[in-house]
Amino acid sequence: MLSLENLVVKYGNVEALHGIDMEVAEGEIVSILGANGAGKSTTLMSISGLVKPASGSIVFEGKPIHTLPAHKIVEMGIAQVPEGRRVFGTLTVAENLRLGAFTSKDRNRDAKTRDWIFSLFPILKERRKQLAGTLSGGEQQMLAIGRALMAHPRLLLLDEPSLGLAPLIIKAIFETIREINGSGVTVVLVEQNARAALRLAHRGYVLEVGKVVLADTAGSLLANP
Ligand code: ADP
Ligand code: ADP
Repeated sequence: MLSLENLVVKYGNVEALHGIDMEVAEGEIVSILGANGAGKSTTLMSISGLVKPASGSIVFEGKPIHTLPAHKIVEMGIAQVPEGRRVFGTLTVAENLRLGAFTSKDRNRDAKTRDWIFSLFPILKERRKQLAGTLSGGEQQMLAIGRALMAHPRLLLLDEPSLGLAPLIIKAIFETIREINGSGVTVVLVEQNARAALRLAHRGYVLEVGKVVLADTAGSLLANP
């Protein structure tokens, strides 16, 4: 479904990714692991078009996407949940979700997707008229995921969804990620919390200073920490 080939990304003179190769098959949950600064976020942002590679290629469903603007990439079926659960605090939950469907032209489909999101995260339905800024951290993360799903993605990119959340909330969110994947959405999950991510994922890539140093099934990576 997705392949990254010899991807190089630079911030000014600093090379953050030194030639990454990665494959994601349809239906998978693939986890990208590694220490702070390894290049996990940069990898995700290159897929979603928020940073542009200096060289290499990103091919999604047979089409090169690394030259496309980010909004085109959303239209092609890739949505990213950025790090730090960014929601619009002065808008309601329902308004935040509506913004997620900004590229959509099919209101009936949007309404169905919203109901699906409410079934995944019932608390969002309860709070749909509340300002997003009044939600707890976990609820804001759920809303950020819901907003990304409103774009009807076939590939969902998650950047550290567990960051700063309590273990029980993390468990609930990870179970919902599994459910989202079960509905046919392929997932790329960036996590520092390697064990939790590998229990959820099918395969994993470990990055170290801008390089892939390990690529294996989640089971093997869990067995050989
Ligand atoms: P991770 O997500 O694994 O923590 P990042 O992708 O955020 O890693 O960062 C990879 C490298 O790129 C790090 O050395 C980081 O300091 C650098 N970097 C990230 N963002 C920027 C930026 N906007 N400008 C300059 N350097 C950056
Ligand atoms: P379609 O209109 O493409 O046939 P539906 O909106 O009827 O899809 O949803 C099909 C199933 O997938 C339903 O169980 C629904 O809850 C769920 N679903 C809805 N929106 C999405 C989405 N964006 N991604 C994955 N599954 C979804």
